[in-house]
Amino acid sequence: MRIDILTVFPDYFAPLDLSLVGKARKDHIFEVHVHDLRHWGVGAHKQVDDTPYGGGPGMVMSADVWGTALDSIQRVDAPLVHKPLLVIPTPSGIVFNQSTAADWTAQGHLVFACGRYEGIDSRVAVHYSDHPDWAGVSEISLGDYVLAGGEVAVLAMIEAVTRLMPGVLGNPGSAVDDSFSIPGGLVEGSVFTKPPLWRDLEVPAPLLSGNHALIAQWRAADSARRTSINRPDLMGDSPQV
Ligand code: SAM
Repeated sequence: MRIDILTVFPDYFAPLDLSLVGKARKDHIFEVHVHDLRHWGVGAHKQVDDTPYGGGPGMVMSADVWGTALDSIQRVDAPLVHKPLLVIPTPSGIVFNQSTAADWTAQGHLVFACGRYEGIDSRVAVHYSDHPDWAGVSEISLGDYVLAGGEVAVLAMIEAVTRLMPGVLGNPGSAVDDSFSIPGGLVEGSVFTKPPLWRDLEVPAPLLSGNHALIAQWRAADSARRTSINRPDLMGDSPQV
């Protein structure tokens, strides 16, 4: 997979050199290219925004700047067979979740367009949705709150997607029991390590029993318990504890 990120703050993406993601990049499991949008900016100040039509506070990122930038990114990848999926993070988009992350692992090329200010001129999303050289556009939100820019959202999405790619996790089984790993599934239950007694708090007896059926039963019940407390919206038809 190839990942391109366009941003006015390329330094935000230094963490992609660290930990699992950094190691996977070094192992060539996927590649990441970060581009400074100002490279395509206009005039002496490399401007990327302008005042909003209809008035109001703040500035809007220019369709012209984004269009030129995205066209040149697409051309870089042109010898490859993959059409890029354009991801535009925005609080007004569909909410990103584990199913989105799993679906995107099948993409050959993801291009992330990090908005700032009042966001990107809406014609950019419309134009690339219908473009024959692109795999479509995903306007997507990290959650129901407003960040200052798309960079943090993109970091979170890239980590969620790439950790599901074969070879990224040391133990691929780690992702199988994760919260939300089954669409519509529950959150993971409580986890413990040594010592068995810490400040008067004991590890639940079934986890020390060595009995695999009992352990699985305890974990399922604890997962349902935590889900019903923290995420009752996910309980659906699952047994209430
Ligand atoms: N005025 C916009 C609105 O209310 O929808 C918010 C603009 S926000 C200050 C600037 C940029 O931050 C957005 O264009 C987007 O790229 C990013 N952003 C903010 N919150 C986000 C969220 N919850 N999910 C994804 N991106 C977000």
